[in-house]
Amino acid sequence: MYKISLITGDGIGPELSESAVSVLNTINDKLDLKFDVIPLSAGDKALEQTGKALPDETVKIIKNSDACLKAPVGESAADVIVVLRRILDLYANIRPAKSYPHMPALRDDIDMVIVRENTEDLYTGKEFSLGNSAVALRIISENASKRIAKYAFETATQRNSKKKVTCVHKSNVMRVTDGLFAKSCLEVSKEYPEIVFEEMYVDACAMNLIRQPESFDVIVTTNLFGDILSDESSQVVGGLGMAPAANIGDSFALFEPVHGSAFDIAGKNIANPSSFLLSIKMMLDWLGTKNNDPLCFAVGQKLESTIFDLVKSGVKTKDIGGDKTTSEFTHEITNHLTTN
Ligand code: ATP
Repeated sequence: MYKISLITGDGIGPELSESAVSVLNTINDKLDLKFDVIPLSAGDKALEQTGKALPDETVKIIKNSDACLKAPVGESAADVIVVLRRILDLYANIRPAKSYPHMPALRDDIDMVIVRENTEDLYTGKEFSLGNSAVALRIISENASKRIAKYAFETATQRNSKKKVTCVHKSNVMRVTDGLFAKSCLEVSKEYPEIVFEEMYVDACAMNLIRQPESFDVIVTTNLFGDILSDESSQVVGGLGMAPAANIGDSFALFEPVHGSAFDIAGKNIANPSSFLLSIKMMLDWLGTKNNDPLCFAVGQKLESTIFDLVKSGVKTKDIGGDKTTSEFTHEITNHLTTN
């Protein structure tokens, strides 16, 4: 039995969480893998109700669980996810962009992953006013840069793909901070002679993600650049509704969609839950590796193929050209998970 903490979130978060619980319950009932899901409050609603966006009790329960699922939270996101990444030391943010058939995507031949450093850069919240100016501290350390570079090279080693790592930075302008990041990645690259290593400025990378996205395998980059480039790469393969992510540390991990709480479509039952359900697939792979549990891999694969078989057969939500509501699409998944 795996204990899964679940932050239900704001905006479309509760609808996505309902879909996730429904899928996890189906796995419990039909596929022999057991989950105890503990719904938790964090985000705008928690702030309103308790005065804290990330209540202590929520953190305590997350720490006692085997893994955490986090639906998007609203305006208070920085006080929830950025803090959780720091206190749980979830240093690697993994954002795959993979083409699947029958998507309204720019390209259908892409298989890449962005490995984003998750603890430093402009996301440490060290900002202040200085007279009439505003200052943000950009912190880049050799340790964190080497740690994420190592994760990227290990990822490239394990992937059955191009065996290439692209280090993305802007060291021609930010010579000290990105200079250190680039130098650290280059040093780590020497331990992996079988992996091709290249460097690319972030503006060139943004262009190449449109012009020749098939040339990428693993991108390793700093926190802010990774945040921006992963929205772009997800659009290349079909949009934010299909984009999962993992925040991984040495002993714990948290899984969430790439996108935010999308208030424009909240409460309408039209959000695509695939981003969150594919995050569950990433969680199953992580649990499988950590616990040496082959059933986790098998169920994860089944969940992913069920989603993409449905999409292929035209069962889709509105964002990817279909007419299914969130709950109808979820229902199709739970039906097919049981009968496949
Ligand atoms: P944030 O500012 O936290 O990044 P946001 O809510 O402003 O988040 P995004 O999450 O980046 O915006 O999403 C941009 C738009 O993409 C949303 O406003 C919504 O229209 C669409 N979108 C995002 N996620 C989904 C989804 N799961 N299903 C369908 N459409 C989505």
